[in-house]
Amino acid sequence: MNDGFFSAVEIADMAPKTVRGRVFSCRDCKLDQECKTPRMKCGGKGRKGIMVIGDAPGENEDEKGSQFVGRAGKEVEWYLSKLGISFYEDCWTENACCCRPVKNDTPTATQILACRERLFKSIRTKQPKVIILLGKSAVDSVIGKYWGSDIGPVGRWRGFRIPCHDLTAWLCPTFHPSYILREKNQESAAPIIFGQDLRSSLSCLENPLPEPPSEKHIQPLDDFHAIRHMRQLLEAPPRLLAFDYETTGLKPHAKGHEIVCCSLCSDPHKAVTFWMENEMVQKTLCRVLESDIPKVASNLKYEDQWSRHILGVHPRNWKFDTMLAAHVQDNRQLITSIKFQGYVRLGVAGYENRVKPYLETGSKNANSINRLKEVRGWKDVLVYCGMDSLLEYRVASMQMKELGIE
Ligand code: URA
Repeated sequence: MNDGFFSAVEIADMAPKTVRGRVFSCRDCKLDQECKTPRMKCGGKGRKGIMVIGDAPGENEDEKGSQFVGRAGKEVEWYLSKLGISFYEDCWTENACCCRPVKNDTPTATQILACRERLFKSIRTKQPKVIILLGKSAVDSVIGKYWGSDIGPVGRWRGFRIPCHDLTAWLCPTFHPSYILREKNQESAAPIIFGQDLRSSLSCLENPLPEPPSEKHIQPLDDFHAIRHMRQLLEAPPRLLAFDYETTGLKPHAKGHEIVCCSLCSDPHKAVTFWMENEMVQKTLCRVLESDIPKVASNLKYEDQWSRHILGVHPRNWKFDTMLAAHVQDNRQLITSIKFQGYVRLGVAGYENRVKPYLETGSKNANSINRLKEVRGWKDVLVYCGMDSLLEYRVASMQMKELGIE
């Protein structure tokens, strides 16, 4: 087993174009045999470096041989023109699926997978700066490549501007225009939200991508250096300290539970990470937790409870919780975890893949024990833990700025 973890590009390459080892291609889809314009090429002139990706050509598009020439396309054209953008001149047009599905059906998961390689080739050739993802199929195809399979509804993703380091572009998901057309006659906020999403996507054109947190920012330490690092923190207290545990389960109360490792981050370019077996390491950490150093975590009650139950220490001076802040800023479901926030804000995804099987207990009982102790000593576990506190520090810094918190 390689003891580094995956780069963004490696993650992109291993993400599902395959399902259970099977590679999908045009042969699995066969829509090319049933439509008038098979394998429609990327359209538009892309003068402003924007690519707009929909789900699939409809009847009009299939007849005329180009994307977005029907009602949905006209709707997008109208919204963009209000923002000073000419749809067909300033943007490239693409679809998750490049052939018309029979009866204009929504593309199936297989059709999207079969067409993903082609879509990514088109994106890499055109090199857009901003990629607007219209609706679920586009989100499944592009975001699914990095995030994996549990994408959920488009409403979970819309409005975020996600830096994609692999494509050097911003991914900007929003609703599909057919949904906006359907909602227009209702008293719905969707058309307004759609306009706002498009406006905020365009604001990315001038913005560079943020520096991605990476493995080079994570320092695994042996016991001696972990103790030394923590003593230094006590001597020169940082402005903010994010910390994170990897533990043998979700709740610490059952016999046999342990904090396997810990990571600390007080600098956007450096997190340290170490095992928690040594008594002196544990004692020094307790001093840090009891100190006045302002502390940050994601779902702080987790770190707080494990500290109390396993180390017998009450952490002091909790300053910020990235999970609570994410909820305060945006009360949608399934968006508050540090994994989600780290992805949508900093473009980091998939770093948990190798360790994840060892974090699962296979039981519904929140007190049951996972397999993390089996991989104690494995550098991937430390790096995974380090990435969490690094993301917590960086996400917290962004959230605090947005919320006007010192
Ligand atoms: N036209 C397209 O080409 N794609 C869509 O998603 C909608 C209309």
